[in-house]
Amino acid sequence: MSLVVREIQAKSILSRSGIEGISYTVNPYTGCSHGCRYCYATFMKKYSGHTEPWGQFVDVKLNAPVLLGRQLPRAQNGTIILSSVTDPYQHLEGKYKLTRECLSVLSKYEFPVEVLTKSPLVTRDVDVIEKCKHIEVGLTITTDDDRVRRIFEPQAPSVEKRFAALRSLRDAGIRTYVFIGPVLPMRPEALAKQIRPHVDRVLIDAMNYSSKTLAIYRAHSLEDWLKPAYVHSVIERLRDSFNAVPTEIC
Ligand code: SF4
Repeated sequence: MSLVVREIQAKSILSRSGIEGISYTVNPYTGCSHGCRYCYATFMKKYSGHTEPWGQFVDVKLNAPVLLGRQLPRAQNGTIILSSVTDPYQHLEGKYKLTRECLSVLSKYEFPVEVLTKSPLVTRDVDVIEKCKHIEVGLTITTDDDRVRRIFEPQAPSVEKRFAALRSLRDAGIRTYVFIGPVLPMRPEALAKQIRPHVDRVLIDAMNYSSKTLAIYRAHSLEDWLKPAYVHSVIERLRDSFNAVPTEIC
């Protein structure tokens, strides 16, 4: 798959958030090479001017850390998430290090920070993450079955690599969470068993964009996984399997 990459200068990087409990978002990239088939962020394409399909373009905001350094002193304290409409650790981050530099800027302030990614590249930045005063790192893990992951998240890192990243962050003493969203076909008890020892909390969300993925579910005879009652029962099994770990349904 070819990826069209543009280096750009952004006008702003710290944006007000409409997400409950989150005051600001920081997205160092526009577009996301993970190209998840259910992605909620595809609306960003219309602001980018790109004609390529979602997952095949990324704009790199070269001045993101500098902008953040300018905007933070004027912002009221509140939780900041990296990121809301891109993966801050998609593979281009290996080269550009914008998320790393943004975290380095954030470490000089008191803002609570959440990092959410599907990538083990986040473990590269443990040294910077440790310098942030109030930080939590989340891995999105939507299934325990890598065959399912390949169907819905074709360019994202494997399930096993995400488990390993989670363990490694936790071993480094970092506060961690897992976002199980959207709930994809899975063995809920097996998934919870892999995650449970390595998280402080878990967020669970059903598939909210089934119109985008209906054809995929049908092609793989997975339609049961779109039935609300069935998904509800899976979420209940997940909650039961997490025992004492706090779980929250989005
Ligand atoms: S990782 Fe997140 S932002 Fe990127 S394509 Fe997947 S769902 Fe969308």
